[in-house]
Amino acid sequence: MDHPLKPRPTIEEVNKVVRKAYNKRYCLHPDSVKGTCEGDIVRAHTIQRNGGLSKITDPSNHVYQFSLHPFKSQPELIGIREASTFTGFCNIHDTRTFERIETQPFSAEKDQIFLLAYRALCRRLFMYRNDVDVNESMKNWADGRTPIEQHVTTISSFYCNLDTKTYEIQKVKYDNILSNKDYSHLKYHIVFIDTIPEFLCSGSLILETDFSGRRYYKPGSKEIDLKIITFSIIPIDEGGAIAYASIDEGEDIQSFFKSIINLDKHLLPNAITRYTFEYHEDNTFISPSWWNKLDNLTKNAISKRALSDDIGFGEMRPNDCLLDDGHSIVKWNITKIISNCS
Ligand SMILES: [Zn+2]
Repeated sequence: MDHPLKPRPTIEEVNKVVRKAYNKRYCLHPDSVKGTCEGDIVRAHTIQRNGGLSKITDPSNHVYQFSLHPFKSQPELIGIREASTFTGFCNIHDTRTFERIETQPFSAEKDQIFLLAYRALCRRLFMYRNDVDVNESMKNWADGRTPIEQHVTTISSFYCNLDTKTYEIQKVKYDNILSNKDYSHLKYHIVFIDTIPEFLCSGSLILETDFSGRRYYKPGSKEIDLKIITFSIIPIDEGGAIAYASIDEGEDIQSFFKSIINLDKHLLPNAITRYTFEYHEDNTFISPSWWNKLDNLTKNAISKRALSDDIGFGEMRPNDCLLDDGHSIVKWNITKIISNCS
């Protein structure tokens, strides 16, 4: 029997739910269960503020970010105090855990590579847990929407729950490595460039496609023990470093790294750029002076990629989404590659 639709939630009601979910504050450090947290829950930066974001900011301390808000087709300015933060660590655990990447120069030591990966993973898990809460609240409004809208919400909620489970499994593995400092499973490929990158990023992703056009994860799979790749672009004293890392084993992971290694070195900078905006635009911060000087064709190419999110119900990204699209966006000189993948 058809039910008359109840009133739809107002945008204010939706915003309230989202704010409540995203304003949670707790410490993700494994020792938090032992009661060792100290100080307030901080706005933990996934990209260093001082010496990180401050290197690409405009004079008023803003950077560009692609908003999660629908209908926005261009990135928007955000203050570096807010950029890249999440409230997922207490003061003492944030300070102590990330000391080696916050206060010491990045030299691609294994513990530093791991910490970049750990921070990216923690943020992603924090966001997924928030999304799960938002989806739960949205279910209460199911009667206020059309059947097709309800269907979309149900499916996106289903995938979000699966992704969150994948990240919960990974978090346990990462916590073990954090505690025992055994980096023997860490795989990494670090690219050093001689200029400060025009955009900085900290991201983590269920392995989906690679630079050869191969697809791994397929939306629709109920498998939750999936492979994760983390990704960071950071400024360093000599320019910048781009770090791909994973703690997972298996042919898929090897094949992904192989697809990077097989790329001609001169094609790598733009391949990295495509990867950044295809998969990690939500935690990528862009230099305003660089963005403002780009021609419209390039801006549109980046925006189109950034806004082409896989929504998870049959409409997936093309397998070849990372392949050369003819846009030359960055001109980085690669000075060194440190990799333990071959
Ligand atoms: Zn803590």
